Order: sequence, then structure tokens, then C-alpha cells
Amino acid sequence: MSRIRFVAVLLCFSGVLQAAENDVVISEAMMTVAELTNYERTSTLAEVVAVLDALDSQTDLMHRERLLLTEQGRDVPLVVLADPPVTTPEEAFQSGKLVVYIQANIHGGEVEGKEASLIAMRDILFGDKQHLLENQILIFVPVYNADGNDTMSENSRPNQELSPAVTGIRAANGYDLNRDGMIIEALETKALYDNVINTWDPDLLVDLHTTNGTWHGYSLTYAPSYHTAGEALPSDYTAYQMLPAIQAAVKGKFDLDFSWYGGFDYRDWPPKEFRTYSHAPRYLTNNMGLRNRMAILSETFSHDRFYKRVHAANAFIEEILEYTYVHGAEIQSINFGADVAARNSAIGQEKGVRFEMVPLPEPLDLLSYNYIPYEKDDGTVDYVRSSELVVTEGVLNYNAFMPTLTSTVPSSYIFSSAFVGLANKLEEHGVEVDILEADATFTGEVFVVEGIDKTNFPLNGHQNSILDGEFQSATRSFSRGDYVVSLNHRLAYLIFYLLEPQADDGLVFWNLFDEYLGSELAADNPVEFPVFKVL
Ligand SMILES: [Zn+2]
Repeated sequence: MSRIRFVAVLLCFSGVLQAAENDVVISEAMMTVAELTNYERTSTLAEVVAVLDALDSQTDLMHRERLLLTEQGRDVPLVVLADPPVTTPEEAFQSGKLVVYIQANIHGGEVEGKEASLIAMRDILFGDKQHLLENQILIFVPVYNADGNDTMSENSRPNQELSPAVTGIRAANGYDLNRDGMIIEALETKALYDNVINTWDPDLLVDLHTTNGTWHGYSLTYAPSYHTAGEALPSDYTAYQMLPAIQAAVKGKFDLDFSWYGGFDYRDWPPKEFRTYSHAPRYLTNNMGLRNRMAILSETFSHDRFYKRVHAANAFIEEILEYTYVHGAEIQSINFGADVAARNSAIGQEKGVRFEMVPLPEPLDLLSYNYIPYEKDDGTVDYVRSSELVVTEGVLNYNAFMPTLTSTVPSSYIFSSAFVGLANKLEEHGVEVDILEADATFTGEVFVVEGIDKTNFPLNGHQNSILDGEFQSATRSFSRGDYVVSLNHRLAYLIFYLLEPQADDGLVFWNLFDEYLGSELAADNPVEFPVFKVL
């Protein structure tokens, strides 16, 4: 009851503030580079900071801090909007409000989320979206990949049809930041976990991208945090409640067509299947599901002109926040429920460690451009895109995942004190690692490794590892000082995915055990995976 009264008081207070804020004149300095150049240019980090300075100078509701100092020395800002203002995660937690985190530009050439989030901040502070701060705290990082953004060049995004002609590049110093959710190697990812995920603990993460080329007919496509090994409800709620409602809202307000993320093979025209990307938690949005939080991947349509892409991204951001404005308490309750369920009942469950993409029960009426087949001079058939938009009914919508291999969630994982790097990696994810206070013997399972397969395509310089072998029941003794990770933890499913030897995107996959296993296997004997499962 006391909390309800507290919110009521805040509503009145913010009403007074809003009246004052409404008097602010939108100045040229508050306009984005895209708006001021007829959408011919996109902003550098310095130009983004200049807009933030202009907004900040007219409000008390903005708090700014450093997300990180990049490898090339750029100071990346994190912006917190709240009414009344907050400056620390503790204050945010005390307020009881929903925390939404919106980041753009993780791929430096995908620029519209950056411009659209500045416009959203301006609308929220001084425009017609001021109510959005009544009951939620909004964190923005408009330029997540500052080094990639500021490496401006022509034609780095050819699918965007030179609109704008000059953009940043995808990677940050050669590194794809949206493949780093598990191994946490880039400075940006470390900063995200240290300064956002493990501190502000957002209920919802929104990651703003632009597609690479599929000729669907949507202004924007989206995906939830795909459900894999974790609690299902945060993902299911995002996929089947929140996103359909937002889709309907943007259609009603702006006549924009949004839909599920995916692609199809136009050589098999008309399309029969629409397939998404990956369930893997190395993608930041998917990672959030293992943490009992919601996430949305947003992909504006690369073949739309820049002004349309910015509008679609802005409409999406603002309609997401309209939804969370109404449903914040429901979202908090689902996430909190998932925390409790993971902590209290993960142990002993059979959960997936490898997955396959499956269609949703409901097929999609797919909006796409038509295709015209023609015979080439060499006799083969090729296709060109028609300018006509068509709907293909009954397309199988591959936008979910089912396990192809499962394993039992143990009560704890135990490993030798020699694996300091492993303990540190878990702590970077926000997982507490305990130390055995006395020698002890445990019953459970060891994984006997028979070989290491390597993937064909390198990811961020890794030739990833997949283990062959099998679990065997075993009793093993450990020493005082060895590490213990309890699965009686709200992050139980993240810990499970990180440490299971057969997980398709765990720390094995990211080569953390290669050195140890390689030297042991060189002796030509089967070797035990060094993380013991207590069952
Ligand atoms: Zn992207």
C-alpha cells in the first residue's frame, strides 16, 4: 500500500514539472544531424554529445555518466532519464520503477537507432511523451559502438543504398560486439555488464539494429529474447503479448508494418519458410532471457530510405515505452517471478544445451516484394525484385527454438583453484563464486571428453570448440580453496549455459578450456572435463 501512495505523490509532482518543461523551446542545438541535413548525414559521437548537452541544459531530469572509454579513447555516454531524477542504481531500485535500457549502434553502420533515440529523448523531455517518465526510468546509450560509428566511410553499408552515403562500420576494432554476450572480451561488453546489466538491472533491454538485406516488406522486424534454457515467461510474454500489442499500435498510429525478424530464400519463390537468426546467448538480447529479463531486437529495413528508417525506429522506441508505461508492474512481476523460480527450482531440471529452430504454431502472412524470374545468357535462372509488395499466406514462421540435447541442472559446479580465469569470467556475469572452506567429497557426474571438434567459421577470432564425450556418475574429492558455484541462484540458467560441457554457446565453445583439454588429450587418454557437477 505504501508504494501505491508513493507513486500517486510522484504523479502529482511530475505534473507540476511537466508544465514547466513544456515551456522549453526546442532549439536548433537539440535537433539531430539527420534532421538538420534532410537525412543526408548521420551523427558522429561528438555530434550526439552536442545534442545531449543541449537537452541536458534545459532539464533536471537527465543524469549522464560514462559507459566506457573505448580502445580508441572515445568517451561513451550513458543517459538516465527519470522524474524525479536518479543518479545511482540504488535510487532507481528504491523508486520501485520499471527500468528500461535502450541501446543503439552496436553495429556502427546501423545508424538509425542512434538518431531515433535522440529524438525520443527530446520528445520525452520536452515534447508529447513526458508522461513516459511518470512511472519508469529510461536508460539510453545512443552510441554503443563509438569506435565503429566514428570510423566513417562511404559504402560501408551498400544495402542501405547510400542513404546516408557515409556511415560507420559494423565492428569495433575488428570485433563484432553482438557476439560477445558469453565470453565478454570487448571493453564495450565489460562496460555493459559492469555499468548497466549488473548495476541498473534493467527489466527490458532494447537493441537497435538495421537489417542486412532480406527483401521482406516490413519497415521494421523484431525478435524477443529467444527462450532456450531459462524461464520461459519473460520471453513468451515479450513474444506473444508485448510485441503483438506494439505491432498493432504502430500500424494504427503510423500505418507502419512491423513483424517478426527473419529471411527467406527467394530462389524458392513463393516463400514457404521465414527463418530467424539464432537462439545463442552470445547475442545480447538472447542473453537477457537466461537472466530472467526481457529483451527486444529491433531491425529497421535496410532498403527503406534513411528518413523512413529513423521514423520506424523512433516509432518503435516510443511505442515500446508506451507499452511499458501501461504494463510496467506486470513486467516487473514476471521478471521477479522468473528470478524466484530459477533460484528455487532450477536444480534437477532437464534443460536444453543445444537447439534447433522450429516454426511457431501460427503461420505468417508474409509481406514481401515480389520476384521476377528470368533466364540468364548462360541458361541458368535468376531473380530480380519487383517493385510490387505482395502477401504470401501460410508461410511457416521459424521464430522459436527447441532443444536437441538436454542435460541436468546440478545443485552446484565445482572446479579447481587453478581455474582462476573461469572464476573471474563467472563474476563478470554477476555470478558469485564461493571457495571451499575445507576438503570435501562430492557425488555427481563427470563429463569424459573424447575429443574436441572445431567450428568452420571463426567468430571474433575464435575457432570455437565443441566437445565429444559422455557423462558418467562419479564421486570426486576437492580441496580447501577450490571453487564452488551454487545453482541455488537467480542466474542458475545462465550459469548452466556457461558451464555445461556440451552447451552450444558456453565457455567451452569460447575456448576457455582448450589449453587444459588440449594438453590432456595430447596424452591420448580420455580426459575429464574439469568442472564437476554435484547432483
Ligand atoms: Zn546489427
